[in-house]
Order: sequence, then C-alpha cells, then structure tokens
Amino acid sequence: MSNLRFQVVGEAFKKKAVAVEAPESVTSEYFGKYVFGREQMAKYLSKETVKKIRDVIDNGATLDRDIANHVAAGMKQWAMEMGATHYTHWFQPLTDGTAEKHDSFIEYSGAPGEGVIEEFSGKLLAQQEPDASSFPSGGLRNTFEARGYSAWDPSSPAFIVDDTLCIPTVFVSYTGEALDYKAPLLKALNAVNKAAVDVCHYFDKSVKKVYSYLGWEQEYFLVDEGLYAIRPDLLLTGRTLVGHESAKNQQLEDHYFGSIPERVQACMKEIEFEAYKYGIPLKTRHNEVAPNQFELAPIFGETNLANDQNLLIMSVMKRVARKHGFRVLLHEKPFAGINGSGKHNNWSLGTDTGVGLFTPGKNATENLQFVTFVVNTLMAVYKNNALLKASIMTAQNSHRLGANEAPPAIISVFLGTQLSAILDKIEKSKVEESITIEGKRKFNLGVSQLPEVLLDNTDRNRTSPFAFTGNRFEFRAVGSSANCGSAMIALNTAVAAQLKEFKAAVDAKIASGMTKDEAIFTVLKKLIKESKAIRFDGNGYSEEWKREAAKRGLDCESSVPLIYDAYTKPESVKMFESCGIFTEKELEARNEVKWEIYTKKIQIEARVLGDLVMNHIIPVATRYQSVLLDNVYKMTQVYEHTKAAKLSAHDNSTIESLSEHIAAVKDYVEQMVDARKVANKITDERQKAFAYQETVLPFFDKIRYHADKLEMIVDDEMWSLPKYRELLFIR
Ligand code: ADP
Ligand code: MG
Repeated sequence: MSNLRFQVVGEAFKKKAVAVEAPESVTSEYFGKYVFGREQMAKYLSKETVKKIRDVIDNGATLDRDIANHVAAGMKQWAMEMGATHYTHWFQPLTDGTAEKHDSFIEYSGAPGEGVIEEFSGKLLAQQEPDASSFPSGGLRNTFEARGYSAWDPSSPAFIVDDTLCIPTVFVSYTGEALDYKAPLLKALNAVNKAAVDVCHYFDKSVKKVYSYLGWEQEYFLVDEGLYAIRPDLLLTGRTLVGHESAKNQQLEDHYFGSIPERVQACMKEIEFEAYKYGIPLKTRHNEVAPNQFELAPIFGETNLANDQNLLIMSVMKRVARKHGFRVLLHEKPFAGINGSGKHNNWSLGTDTGVGLFTPGKNATENLQFVTFVVNTLMAVYKNNALLKASIMTAQNSHRLGANEAPPAIISVFLGTQLSAILDKIEKSKVEESITIEGKRKFNLGVSQLPEVLLDNTDRNRTSPFAFTGNRFEFRAVGSSANCGSAMIALNTAVAAQLKEFKAAVDAKIASGMTKDEAIFTVLKKLIKESKAIRFDGNGYSEEWKREAAKRGLDCESSVPLIYDAYTKPESVKMFESCGIFTEKELEARNEVKWEIYTKKIQIEARVLGDLVMNHIIPVATRYQSVLLDNVYKMTQVYEHTKAAKLSAHDNSTIESLSEHIAAVKDYVEQMVDARKVANKITDERQKAFAYQETVLPFFDKIRYHADKLEMIVDDEMWSLPKYRELLFIR
C-alpha cells in the first residue's frame, strides 16, 4: 500500500499561490459593499425611515411595526439587486461560532400553486422562531418556555453572504432569558454606557453617550488542506492529539520576523478583500511566533459591531482558506510544544464628544477623568478577577493558559511604570495637598502633565493577561476561537457596576460637604489602596508569582469546570442582577451549558485519540515490529546469535522498547475508555465535567508520550500521520 501521507506531502509541496485580484483598485470604493449600512439605507429607504431607524440605533428608541416594514422592503430590494434569494436570522448560540437557518424570499402570490413572488415583511425581519431545540440552553427552555426566538438587532447592519441576506439577531427564550451571547452583551454595553455617562458628568455635562470599544487581534494557523484531511484529530477536534515535536520549531524565532510566505500572502489578501466587502476594517496582517501561525486585526470599533465582525471574519477565513488549499485552525492550542493562539481584546471606553476615557488628557480635569476610569477599571478587575477568568476559560483555552506562552491562569493588571507611579503618588498624597489655591479651589493631582510617553507602547509586558497599553486595556487571555462576547459581557458589566458604586460613594461625600474634586480624589485614593493586589508588573509566568498571587488572595483556581463557579458566587449574581444583565437562573443555566460543552469536547477528543492509537498507530508500529523481527531472525539464520544481534540494524532493545510502547498506549487507551464509561454515568453536569477533567483527561498526556515515542522509532516511510514538520513548515 502506498503511503497516503507521502502523496499529500508531495502535492502540498507543488501547490502554488492562487492568484487574487482586488475587487477595485481603491479599497474605499467597495468597502461595505455587502452590508446594508448607512449608504445603502440612504439609497433604499425614505428619509423619514432613515431618521427613525437612526433613532433606534443611536438612542435605543423603540422600533414600531411600520418602520420595520419599511426597512424590510428596502432591505429586500437591495438584497435582491445583490443577487440574494434567501434570508436568515444570524445568531450566536452558546456553542462556538454562529448559527443560521435560511429561508427563501418566495411566497405564493395567490392560491397555492399559482406562482410565487418575493416577500419580506417587517415581521420576518424583526422576529423568527428558529427550530432551536437542539441548541444548548442549560435546561432554560424546559424551565421556562419550550420555544426560543431570534429578534433583530438593528444596531448591527445586515449583510449578504453568498445568496443569503443575514440579519444579526439576539436569541432568547419566550420568557426573555438569553440563550446567546448577543442579548446579554447589548445589555452590558447599555449598562456601562449609563454608568459611565453618569461619572463623566462630574467632568463634562455635555456627554450623552459612552461607547465601549473593542479591537480584537485574531491569531490563527494555516495548514495545508491535504495534510489536514488525513489527520483525524485535526479534522474532528481542531488540534493534534499526538505528534512528536519537530526538530526545528520556533526556537530561532525566525517566523515572527520572516516575510509572509507567498501562498499565505495570497490567502491573507483575499481574506482582506472579503473583509472589506463586509465593512470589516482590517488593518494589520503578520506572521506570529509559531511556524505557520499568523494574525490579523482591524481598526477597533463599537463592541457589539466589532464582535459581530469577528464572528463573521472567522467564517470568512475558513471559507477563503479552502480556496487556497489551506485549512484555518482557530483552536487555542493546535500543536504541543509551540505557541497557541489567542485573541487579544483591546478594550476602551469613549464619549460621544470624542474623548477616550483611557487616554491621558491635556489638562487637570481631563486627567482626573482619565485616572478615575483607570482606577475604577482596576477595582472592577480586582473584584471580579475570578469571573473574568471564567469568562475566557474553555477546554481549548486551558491548554494555552498557564503554559509559558500565554497569559497565566491568574488575572492581574499591568499598568507600566509611569501609570503605576502616578497612582502611587495619588495614594500617598494628602487631599489638602492636591488642592491649590488660585482664587478658587483647583484640583491638582500632580498629573496635569501626564508624560507623552504614556501613549507610547514601549513599556510592555507580554506576560500580563490584562495590560494597559497607552489608551486602552488589552485583555489578552481571550482564546482565538472564542466569541469575544463572553469576555466583553463580564468586563463591561464589572466596570458598569464599579462605576455605579463609585458614583454613589462620591455623591455621599459631596452630600456630606466635600467639594466634588475632593470627594472624587478621596474615593479614588481608597480604591487605589483596595485594588492594589491586582497590580502586577512582573513576570506572570514565574512560579514566585503563583505563590505571591495566592498570598494576595487572587483567584488561582485552574480547574476549568470549577472556574465557572465564579459566575454563581453571591457577589457575581448580585452584580449581574443589579445591572440587569442576567438573573441567577440564567447564570446557572449558562454554567450548565459550559460544563456540558467542556465534557463533550474532552469526550470527542478521547474517542479520536482512541481511534488514532488503535487504528493508525498500533497497526503501523506492529508492522514495523514484524520487519525488525524478520531482520533479526534472518540474521540468526546466517550468523550465530551474538554476532547476529550485533549486526542487525536494530538490536533487540529497539524491538523491546517498541513492544513496551505499544503495550503502554494500548493499556492506557483501555483505561481511558473505562474512565469515560464511569464518567458518562454521572448526571450532574458539573460533576461530570469535573470527572472528565480528573479521570479522563490525564490519560491524554500518557498516551501521547508513548505514541510520540513510537513515531520516533517507527520507519518514517510507514508512518501514516503527517508529522509536525510537515504540518508546520509546508506552506
Ligand atoms: P499590538 O499587536 O501592538 O497590540 P495591533 O495593532 O495588532 O497591536 O492591535 C491593536 C488593536 O487595538 C487594533 O485593533 C486597534 O485598532 C485597537 N485599538 C487601538 N486603540 C484602541 C482603543 N482606544 N480602544 C480599543 N481598541 C483600540
Ligand atoms: Mg495587542
């Protein structure tokens, strides 16, 4: 039998870059072409409708049936002119990615059978009932209502994929419980807007709205499609479950600085062209640290839209990569021994007056505002460090966190020396000192002239999971395949709740006779003191930090299933309820879903691993064993025993170690299967997930150890699974 592996390697080597051409010579000419954005609205809707819909988008005005009908009519006309024949409510279930069910525009024009016309009403635009019983809901639909429905989110524009008009929607149960990421995200953004506007009014009464901004950086791997297809683990789980490290991987760090390989460059370009058509403002593309690892990032935008765009780009990437003979791996840890992939969430708040609330200002008032928002964020992260970790933790991301490559599994904040010094100074100074007498009382933090360099990102710490980077915070622990919504819900809610508390504390001080500035200053001082434990500028990968963090009382839990408990702690429930994001029931239900997903991921991986060992690795290894035995046997036919053993290419010890590794993998796979059977009997989702982690997962490394040893021993020509060097260096 010829080895399929060599065939696909040979083919992969011959592949040339696919020629790609920009849709237009100038990007701005086709940017947003597939999106029903402002320009399209102006063209396809009446002035009156545009005005009303803008009011809905900008000010949260309620949407009446009439406008919905008008928008639907305009949208349909535009979509049909663009070649669309179908429409779908595009939503974000709690599983990965997005979901959609396509319906055609056609309806009978009269009696059944008398011909069809294209129809799309406001009702169809605004609400749908997808047959969603198969989406995980953590028992919510049983508890409340059997059905769920999707409802239009007018703040994120509809777009066309292929022949289908996609309408971004929330997905909720009939009694209003969120079954997705978008519904709670919109609530969290609203909460942080309200809370931040109130606090902004201490400094500027003209602020009407505060936006939450998100700029994600998407890391990914590209693997040749042929090689991918004959790795059952990549195909079914998105990561390699076995595979010996390549002799060369990322030691030389030559990939990061290297030029982008041609085939990849073509693929990246086409991803960009597609992204621009969808109005996704991709800005950067580059190689990442690991071989065949890359990154793309857009210009940041409003969080809800930016998140939709991230979900869209992930599906665009998958689609385009295939045209170039690649598969894109969004898994957080596709390969052992080299870096995994994350999705840094650059996050900030900004006012409708154009002020970045994490951007150092030009005068004392602006800087007091800047410090206010920084300190409240610090406090929010401090109080919710366990919750923020829970918001980014998944079976996949757990392979990345805690290894020396990614943010550690303890949440801390890096501020940099300058900002740290400023906060230290505020903490130590007396309120009286901060008031300079210039006719009237004037506030002086000693920070009215914040050093310009603060805006410069030179002061960096790659090991921090949450870092201040000049005008924003960078939440780096988010996984590459994640819906950013999870992290953004937790972060924006935490900051909203903290800002509300801050306002209450300051108002109380003002009521007791302090001036506004004195009150703000006094409360900030207290918060700086209280949140100190979260600040850490050192090496987040070090063992000392783990001990130190535990001493500081930061959450050090590293068990994925147990981390989710952070969502249902009384403080978390109170916070989510007080901001109107989740009820306790919803939090419990969502945790059920997370545990279930965790269990299923490990379950699938365990099955695939068992299959790899029993049907790929052991058959090849035993075949090679026979070859060796044959060789030794024939030697003994010619020479006497000791000489024969000496002369045969592989002495008996190779045969023995081969046999030992074969026996070991087999034995461990059997033990793993038994452990799975026991775990499967558990009905409580949390207990089951924990059992999978404690009793099934540990076999993965044991099996891998022996499987990888076998890969090293067995004749390369016989080995059927593409090796790391082939997966990582062919492009
Ligand atoms: P780096 O790799 O140096 O961190 P990138 O340029 O790859 O930086 O990504 C930085 C991301 O942060 C981009 O998406 C950028 O638009 C975004 N960003 C910049 N300023 C802000 C801000 N004030 N708020 C949110 N995101 C921001
Ligand atoms: Mg970054």
